Amino acid sequence: MEGVTSQSYNPPADANFEQSLRPPGFEDFHGQTKVTERLMLMVEAAKMRDDVLEHVLLSGPPGLGKTTLSNIIATMAGSNMHTTSGPQIEKAADLAGILTNLQKGDVLFIDEIHRLHPSVEEYLYPAMEDYRLDIIIDSGPSARSIQLNLPKFTLVAATTRSGMLTAPLRSRFGIINRLDYYSAQELTVIIKRSAKLLKVEIDEDGALAIGRRSRGTPRIANNLLRWVRDYAQVRADGVITAEIASAALEMIEIDEDGLDEMDKSILDAMIYKYGGGPVGLSTLAVALGEDASTLEEVHEPFLIMQGFMQRTPRGRVALPSAYEKIGAPKPKRDELF
Ligand code: ADP
Repeated sequence: MEGVTSQSYNPPADANFEQSLRPPGFEDFHGQTKVTERLMLMVEAAKMRDDVLEHVLLSGPPGLGKTTLSNIIATMAGSNMHTTSGPQIEKAADLAGILTNLQKGDVLFIDEIHRLHPSVEEYLYPAMEDYRLDIIIDSGPSARSIQLNLPKFTLVAATTRSGMLTAPLRSRFGIINRLDYYSAQELTVIIKRSAKLLKVEIDEDGALAIGRRSRGTPRIANNLLRWVRDYAQVRADGVITAEIASAALEMIEIDEDGLDEMDKSILDAMIYKYGGGPVGLSTLAVALGEDASTLEEVHEPFLIMQGFMQRTPRGRVALPSAYEKIGAPKPKRDELF
């Protein structure tokens, strides 16, 4: 998916754009108050004890600020951040290479930690707990284990699927933080800050109009802002008002609830192809030509939170507001389950 498509507005990842809007400190990171308060306290306590920060787990859907928070933690702690992700660490040797490169107090950020290979995960336990790495060299009768001492470091791990984490891994984090979707008001503040950095003029209602359609997600809010800015430049005098924002977002088929074409296709397929469900995730994914994990991690959490669908042990079920959204006749209550 790229550019402005009829499927959904999902511009290619632009690392420079994201980087330029990333809040550098807690004071610019708006929302998630409980999480930021806890993290600030932890950083302060570690500093007072002149100790290294405990390991931190951040969970929640994509685009809510996990990488940003990891950066802020490292900056506040005055340490370097090393970034990798679960799928990138294929073998124990890859992990050994990363860990042995760390300095005391460094932050190691592992994104998508739930995708870490089980055989690699086992090496992470002693590294997290005792700052020790046991590696086996050679194989067969000459195989032997050597122990490496590691500098004290902080692991900040991010996951979109905290339920997939094994109990031993989860128990090794000092603190587990769940990030929630942002309210439209919180996103309005974030959008105004981004607009200032992008040197775009936007009024309160314009920011709110974008915030309401951003699916509770700052990354989406910033991407929509970028599109609305372009629209305002070409079709208006460059100033973003509620009217301009609505017209711009209508053009890329994002509705007043922030649902894009893919969201609506999901609800449509559930209702018209599978009688409202229950329907299995993989069946739905095949019907839509979309990856099952994208449906599960990106689209479903928002549709569930907004009350359009439900996950049941027998499969996904469309709720009454889904029928309303796509203009389908509502089933009788007892036909729903
Ligand atoms: P994640 O790692 O959870 O996928 P990121 O940390 O990469 O999400 O955040 C995506 C973008 O959203 C970043 O570029 C950042 O600018 C913005 N962002 C996220 N959370 C906030 C926030 N609380 N305040 C301001 N901007 C935010």
